[in-house]
Amino acid sequence: AKEPVRVLVTGAAGQIGYALVPMIARGVMLGTDQPVILHMLDIPPAAEALNGVKMELVDAAFPLIKGVVATTDAVEACTGVNIAVMVGGFPRKEGMERKDVMSKNVSIYKAQASALEQHAAPNCKVLVVANPANTNALILKEFAPSIPAKNITCLTRLDHNRALGQISEKLNVQVSDVKNVIIWGNHSSSQYPDVNHATVNTAAGEKPVRELVKDDAWLNGEFITTVQQRGAAIIKARKLSSALSAASSACDHIRDWVLGTPEGTWVSMGVYSDGSYNVPAGLIYSFPVTCRNGEWTIVQGLSIDEFSRKKLDLTAEELSEEKALAYSCLS
Ligand code: NDP
Repeated sequence: AKEPVRVLVTGAAGQIGYALVPMIARGVMLGTDQPVILHMLDIPPAAEALNGVKMELVDAAFPLIKGVVATTDAVEACTGVNIAVMVGGFPRKEGMERKDVMSKNVSIYKAQASALEQHAAPNCKVLVVANPANTNALILKEFAPSIPAKNITCLTRLDHNRALGQISEKLNVQVSDVKNVIIWGNHSSSQYPDVNHATVNTAAGEKPVRELVKDDAWLNGEFITTVQQRGAAIIKARKLSSALSAASSACDHIRDWVLGTPEGTWVSMGVYSDGSYNVPAGLIYSFPVTCRNGEWTIVQGLSIDEFSRKKLDLTAEELSEEKALAYSCLS
């Protein structure tokens, strides 16, 4: 039998956490043959609710669960973890300035970086979900210098999956037949969902999305804004932000990272930029990546037209500004 993997979820008493932990317990993240020990962290005001989640995990009698740690102590939560999914963060409340939210999250991610650096298992893989996800991940990277930069990522897979979903609805095809969309940049409304290299598996072979949709105005307009603003549309409909889709895509992100992407398929991940596609190095930016042997690689050599170039640069600019704002909160 396989050794259990320790998976940390921060903000585990929150609504994404509540959707995520049963998925992990069912093997959606790491496979149905992989036992797990769940580490759940939340803040003291949420301790009682967190304990309730722990009780439900016991009650569900998940066969893959080999242990549950539920705690408000970051050191206890981080000790020995192989995978860390960072969902906890300070939400933007009415009347708060961007800088106030940033400052709260910078201090949370700085503290959690140290706890992970000192106590996580070697080669721990980190996924940041909490917003501003890219910049929180960057702060985590800066304050955990002994964790390799390649191990620190942020979630843009939800945006990627939303783009696949929109194409599938538009063409009335199965979502599993659509692939290779790209989310470039920030997990914010400045992100660029790009279909220029996306394809659909049809009875007549693989066809470019652009050829099948035949509606460039839609692809260059409404499609992009729908994906960018999907989060707000969910809040409007549900009166709560997206949770099941966020949790599901966090599982997709980790699963593909650990177990690999299928041949000929790439996915979007927020990763530390090495300057590929002329994106400034030193930002956490969403790129198309393939994964093998537990490591991601940015897909190289894709053509970028003028329309796309502007959009790649715009979202990079926003990330540079966020980075500067985050640093100004540190001093
Ligand atoms: P959610 O579980 O709904 O969301 C958690 C975080 O994920 C938020 O930052 C949210 O950003 C972000 N997020 C990223 N992508 C998405 C997406 N597509 N849809 C929805 N959210 C997304 O929040 P809750 O308030 O229910 O839970 C948060 C938990 O974190 C609570 O249990 C709280 O106690 C804990 N917490 C921990 C802190 C810490 O570790 N020090 C500090 C504060 C809270 P956005 O805000 O933009 O929706």
